[in-house]
Amino acid sequence: MRSLPSVEKLLQELDPKDFHPVPRPVVADLVRREVAALRETVRTTSQPLAEGEALAAVTHAVLQLRSSRLQPVINATGVLIHTNLGRSPVGARAADALRAIATSYNNLELDLPTGQRGRRAGYLEQLLATLTEAPAAVAVNNCASALVLILKSLLSGEKNEMIVSRGELVEIGGGFRIPEIMEASGAVLVEVGATNKTRIEDYERAIGERTAAILKVHRSNFWLGGFTGEPTTEELAELADGSGIPLVEDLGSGAVMQTDALAPIEHEPTPMEVLGKGVGLVCFSGDKLLGGPQSGIIAGRAELVAAVKQEPFFRAVRCDKLILTVLQETVSEYLAARGEGADGGKRQDLPDIPVVRALATTVGELRERARAIVDRLAQTAPGIEVEVIDTVARTGGGTMPRSEIPSVGLVLKHPKYAKAERVAEQLRQGSPPVVGYVEEDALRLDLRTVFPQQDDALVEAIRLSEN
Ligand SMILES: *Cc1c(COP(=O)(O)O)cnc(C)c1O
Repeated sequence: MRSLPSVEKLLQELDPKDFHPVPRPVVADLVRREVAALRETVRTTSQPLAEGEALAAVTHAVLQLRSSRLQPVINATGVLIHTNLGRSPVGARAADALRAIATSYNNLELDLPTGQRGRRAGYLEQLLATLTEAPAAVAVNNCASALVLILKSLLSGEKNEMIVSRGELVEIGGGFRIPEIMEASGAVLVEVGATNKTRIEDYERAIGERTAAILKVHRSNFWLGGFTGEPTTEELAELADGSGIPLVEDLGSGAVMQTDALAPIEHEPTPMEVLGKGVGLVCFSGDKLLGGPQSGIIAGRAELVAAVKQEPFFRAVRCDKLILTVLQETVSEYLAARGEGADGGKRQDLPDIPVVRALATTVGELRERARAIVDRLAQTAPGIEVEVIDTVARTGGGTMPRSEIPSVGLVLKHPKYAKAERVAEQLRQGSPPVVGYVEEDALRLDLRTVFPQQDDALVEAIRLSEN
């Protein structure tokens, strides 16, 4: 046991550089736990520790903990909405607004003209309604909670059945499945059709006294091909209307721009389009293709949205002021870029939304940046082999699984690290961390997801990774 240093001694020997900015009490706690574990090892093996072994173990544990701290990362994966990298980054104006609201008091629930209690998020709801071209809209914590909330608001006593096609009972990621989310609302699922084919008659036969609504779930993260078929949204809307029940659609991905006009990829249905086809309520994520903060947006008929807001569960999943601010600014970006032409016709400029910008960047622009980076590395880090290559980027995050976006990247080879995985690891542990991917035994960095203003930091991170 004498080979085991004391907690105090280890704390003194730790290099403060290694644990900054982990708070000292957390480091002390971690060291205590490591020492306890080492003591247990010494006790059970009866082997003393080697010189410096305890300090090495403790340093490793501290570095491990420090790297798990939430921090900015350069996304060079080419996946625009990367679930592991926090989905959508938000624009500079949204971030500025966030800072202003976060560090001050605000009028969250105060009507400034009268000084009376005001409507929380009333302004945002108006913007969302205009954006989605719906009579009413509301935002909640995320799309999953939006779905549960919608279903809860539509259930009443015996009327608790939700009709859904077997071809739409999807897993949305992280092990969460639509049928389980639906059941969490207390709804009784009535599955119709087969995995590959559902007909309008299947829905028709399932409608009865207890039917609360028909749910359509957009297949946002997979596609179905071959011998398949389903009724159109218009047919379903007509059936729902005739039966006096609402049609609800969970769109998931939430693109509000024409994705096929932004990049050579597929068209992703927008909330405006599905509402125009007769859907009563639509929900979608705020941090997928919309490019905002984590949130779920519900839009549609006024009385249905009003019922959603009256549901007691609404309080449990409402957004806080910080999210409301970022969402408000994100939606404003779209609306400012949309404007109304002099003739009342709509134009749509490119809004300042990072994922939208990244999607719309041309291969030519990316190639130019790639060449500039290669030139700079040739001067500052001549030991690193780097080439420009064509790559394929994706929207990701469970959206548009078939869409391959032509992109440009760098292939990196280090003289020091034979394995591409080692180069990748080195860059992930840099400051800032850079996350790329390994293909054909080499590390690739896709520039579509790297913001132009990050190019300097990227060059520096690559240069430092040589050491
Ligand atoms: C992503 C997704 C969800 C969940 O959205 P969150 O905002 O992550 O809760 C729900 N439904 C569909 C169809 C999705 O694609």
